[in-house]
Amino acid sequence: MRWSYKVARVAGIDVKIHVTFLLILAYFGAIYWQQGGLAGAVTGMGFTLLLFLCVLLHEFGHAFAARAYGIRTPDITLLPIGGVARLERMPDKPVQELVVAIAGPAVNVLIAAGLLIFLAASLRMSDFTEIEQAGGGILENLLAVNVILVAFNAIPAFPMDGGRVVRALLAMVMDHIKATTIAARIGQGVAVLFALASLGGPLLQSLAPGLMRGTFLESFSGNPMLLFIALFVFSGAGQELAYARARSVVGRRTVSDVMHSGFASIPTGTPVAHALAFAKAGAQWAFPVVDPHLRAVGLVGLPALEKAVAGGFGDQLVDDLALPAARIQGATPLTEVLGAIAPRVPVIVENSSGQIVGLLAVSE
Ligand SMILES: [Zn+2]
Repeated sequence: MRWSYKVARVAGIDVKIHVTFLLILAYFGAIYWQQGGLAGAVTGMGFTLLLFLCVLLHEFGHAFAARAYGIRTPDITLLPIGGVARLERMPDKPVQELVVAIAGPAVNVLIAAGLLIFLAASLRMSDFTEIEQAGGGILENLLAVNVILVAFNAIPAFPMDGGRVVRALLAMVMDHIKATTIAARIGQGVAVLFALASLGGPLLQSLAPGLMRGTFLESFSGNPMLLFIALFVFSGAGQELAYARARSVVGRRTVSDVMHSGFASIPTGTPVAHALAFAKAGAQWAFPVVDPHLRAVGLVGLPALEKAVAGGFGDQLVDDLALPAARIQGATPLTEVLGAIAPRVPVIVENSSGQIVGLLAVSE
């Protein structure tokens, strides 16, 4: 992620902080400073840091569960809206996805339980008012934060963990894409409900002032944060669906299905000047140099041919200009290839006898 900086490395995972996270920290510091001076700013920023430590531990929960299934997590990034653990890939088996999804909130359940036990024990030992004064407020707020984190992730919508739990449970009885579609629709339904609660609340209040009094709707009514969450959830669900669709399309296809098979090639032994005249006639810009057995000896680019002719090497053979290229079998599944191919560098596609059958180029 852009504008993210590595601050630590824990158990082989880079911990990164996005610059906007520091802005949020400074913002909270300033607010607390206004309220309580230096002491207030220190307490406020300390609490904000502890809050994000809980978010970080939540992400480590996901990462360690994924590691148990052999999936690496290169980094975890802290953003103002929360943490993102970048897993190398998502687990394919629904049971594994379920465990990885639950492992995050499970960490917050543990922290909350620990705080609850600690607070209850110290309550028994000393006077209640004394704890209030001795910074007990921070621990109580931290307990509340962890409960909120668990509750928020229990919402059955992408990109919250609850959405993944729903998808994983559905995927146990139907195929992945169908499960994702249903989970995404549920998520978008939840988002619409949030938006209605936020926007519709004030309307309902003006129409029938007494109706909402005392109900939970009253506290959500006109809440801009809820509208923000609704938009966040709605787009997250859409992205998850798009990703699952792309994966299902790619998953069944091989290199042969998408390679460029109507390519032009240049036979070995062709003089560079002839090759250039031929190359200029078409729209292709890189040509395989192919021997009589249909085996590619390498690739030659249009600029290289032009340069050679301009330099007076028109009589030279293309064989000398051909550069080695990456080769791949036509039967290779596309899922293994995506991300492994450098953009704009053509790859020679071969059949099982080593003959060239196509070219594969990934645009940027
Ligand atoms: Zn999570």
